[in-house]
Amino acid sequence: MSYDDQNVFAKILRGEIPCDKVHEDDWALAFKDISPQAPIHILVIPKGPYVSMDDFSANASEAEVAGFFRAVGRVARDAGAAPDGYRFLANHGDDAHQEVPHFHVHIFAGRDLGGMIRRPKN
Ligand code: 5GP
Repeated sequence: MSYDDQNVFAKILRGEIPCDKVHEDDWALAFKDISPQAPIHILVIPKGPYVSMDDFSANASEAEVAGFFRAVGRVARDAGAAPDGYRFLANHGDDAHQEVPHFHVHIFAGRDLGGMIRRPKN
């Protein structure tokens, strides 16, 4: 899948649509999810044009990977989520219901987050 530079996170990176920013550095931008599923729900995205975790892990440089994951940890720490715990999650592709085709990590915290994934109904 090639990168679509009209996706909503590409527009946020370019400043074409607003976001509630919590962190920015050379490698990553972090902002609050527009539809939070926990008291703390932050999205962290790399600055580069990567479709998903699959693309990022295969094609990003060592510096991009290191810079990005350092930022994820820092954002969770700065949000105060480290002492009580948090979950970070990245959806890749259709089975994971990825909606936005720019790689992003969700950070959830601020309540008991329950089991790891929902079990199938049958
Ligand atoms: P995915 O299912 O792709 O892992 O998650 C996409 C996330 O992006 C969803 O949690 C959704 O609420 C969030 N989202 C979609 N559009 C926007 C937006 O314009 N601004 C912000 N802040 N979050 C968005």
